[in-house]
Amino acid sequence: MSAPGAGRFAPSPTGSLHLGNLRTALLAWLSARSARLRFLMRVEDLDEGRVRPRFEREQLEDLRAIGLDWDGPVARQSERRELYDAAIESLADRGLLYECFCTRAEIREAASAPHGPLAEGAYPGTCRALPAARLRERRASGRTPALRLRAGAARIDFEDRRLGPHGAVVDDFVVRRGDGVPAYNLAVVVDDAAQGVTEVVRGADLLETTPRQLLVARLLGLARPTHAHVPLLLGPDGSRLAKRHGAVTLRARAEAPAEVLGALAATLGLADVGEPVTPALLLVRFDPARVPREATRVSPATLEAEG
Ligand code: GLU
Repeated sequence: MSAPGAGRFAPSPTGSLHLGNLRTALLAWLSARSARLRFLMRVEDLDEGRVRPRFEREQLEDLRAIGLDWDGPVARQSERRELYDAAIESLADRGLLYECFCTRAEIREAASAPHGPLAEGAYPGTCRALPAARLRERRASGRTPALRLRAGAARIDFEDRRLGPHGAVVDDFVVRRGDGVPAYNLAVVVDDAAQGVTEVVRGADLLETTPRQLLVARLLGLARPTHAHVPLLLGPDGSRLAKRHGAVTLRARAEAPAEVLGALAATLGLADVGEPVTPALLLVRFDPARVPREATRVSPATLEAEG
């Protein structure tokens, strides 16, 4: 019997999953399954310019190959546009959005000036209160505006199940891009709520997005899931794992997928190096309190192109 609620993995099909992504997926799966939650698969494919069907197919194959499974059909964000549009409309109807015409370069420039409690790189509010004449001028320029949330410099705090208390002042972030595509920070919240996701387990690189997402959930009156941001796998040089580090994908490796699963489990202290494991065995051993806090550096020898 499942408990009510669900966990999920939500890959973007813009490239191959690397070992770090697979390890995050494994942790999300272990976390949900060990709590007898449903586990959902959601393909975050809104960014048409970067998404490739081949990557979606390969990502799902790779996840299955290491032994992960999920409940129900795969959800695709590209098929759920009305949900995001309705959420954007609801925010707009309440006067919570404004048009932003800034280019990236303009934002970089403006954001480098000191601006109070906002984190570095945050949107400084250039378009928040454009005088009517300037707004008309900007609209006439032909540039389609992005829509930003009036975040009102809200401070959002939450308890990360892995990392403890965390909080930030939320900037006026984009909810709909200039090309009309709903932004990740909006879509992910709408989906998690609509799909009944109660726990989000994802890479620590997304920790800084969470206050924004919790603000969206609050403004839309949606339930908020718990969050656990899990440590990343790093390349030998300490930077985020990437293709240039060597054999970082399942397909680039000579071992069988089950051996890759074993190697990932070993980095989590769930298996001895070289020990054969199955997801079911890892489930028995899994203790969320013992997931490492620190990122793991992969040794250069591990990444030598093989096969
Ligand atoms: N699609 C996002 C990514 O691949 C992850 C979204 C999430 O887990 O919230 O980075």
